[in-house]
Amino acid sequence: MNRDIATVGRTKEILEKYGFSFKKSLGQNFLIDPNVLRKIVSFAELKPGSGAVEIGPGIGALTENLARACERVVAFEIDQRLLPILEDTLGDYDNVTILHQDVLKADVRSVMTAYFEEDQDVMVVANLPYYVTTPILMKLLNDQIPVRGFVVMMQKEVADRLAAEPGSKEYGSLSIAVQYYTKPEKVMIVPKSVFMPQPNVDSAVVRLTKRDKPPVEVADEDFFFTITKTAFAQRRKTLLNNLTSGLENGKEKKEGILAILDSIHIDPGRRGETLSIQEFANLANALYPIFAEK
Ligand code: SAM
Repeated sequence: MNRDIATVGRTKEILEKYGFSFKKSLGQNFLIDPNVLRKIVSFAELKPGSGAVEIGPGIGALTENLARACERVVAFEIDQRLLPILEDTLGDYDNVTILHQDVLKADVRSVMTAYFEEDQDVMVVANLPYYVTTPILMKLLNDQIPVRGFVVMMQKEVADRLAAEPGSKEYGSLSIAVQYYTKPEKVMIVPKSVFMPQPNVDSAVVRLTKRDKPPVEVADEDFFFTITKTAFAQRRKTLLNNLTSGLENGKEKKEGILAILDSIHIDPGRRGETLSIQEFANLANALYPIFAEK
């Protein structure tokens, strides 16, 4: 077995060999603790025939652990400077493909069709670049890529939002969107000391297991997400105020909105953060007819 990339000594050696300097703007905080990496991979519960999609391999610390644990790894890396380094560090693994692409612009579905079998068990496993954690997750969830789930490192504060329950200050439209598609679990809190360079914030690993079907039935998914975003647009405002000021022609339709809230037994003076996902679904389904009409 090769020497682990993720030790302080080996990482420094690789960085020096290539004269690599970290780009803060790309969220480059590399993992330097083999134990943390092994745990991340174990949370993914990969089988020998599984596949893994990684975002941001860096110098390959997590990638090599994935390559040892499953059949095939496909990784998206935006930073051109890392490509020759990865060719060197991962040269011994013939089951790794590095794609020089911005994952936010990539057609991940087509990439998966090209590299994985149709019914292959695949997980997204990544130490995400923190500046784009939410856009990456939302893109991969909205695109409904064919994976069993995600094991992803992120800022602890975002992890808290993903797993938040109604009534808490972390609960918002992101919690609802993520919980609509997946079951989130915060599986590990990670200290700053396991990164090089150390980030300014605490981190956590979250496992998101895709649901077979959403926990609520909605008439129109886009409209449901519009309603949840609108309800949280200004957290201190009441639900009614957010709906009337955020929805198209909301002010003119105020009486209709009030009647609908009354019919589904939701007090217009409540704040968005107190509504359960089921209540949001009821609200979106009841409002849909009056906002869908042109
Ligand atoms: N996986 C490595 C590790 O754990 O040591 C590096 C993780 S580092 C937090 C994030 C990585 O994502 C960096 O390699 C960075 O260049 C890459 N990255 C940043 N933005 C990206 C994007 N939009 N698409 C693909 N990779 C990106």
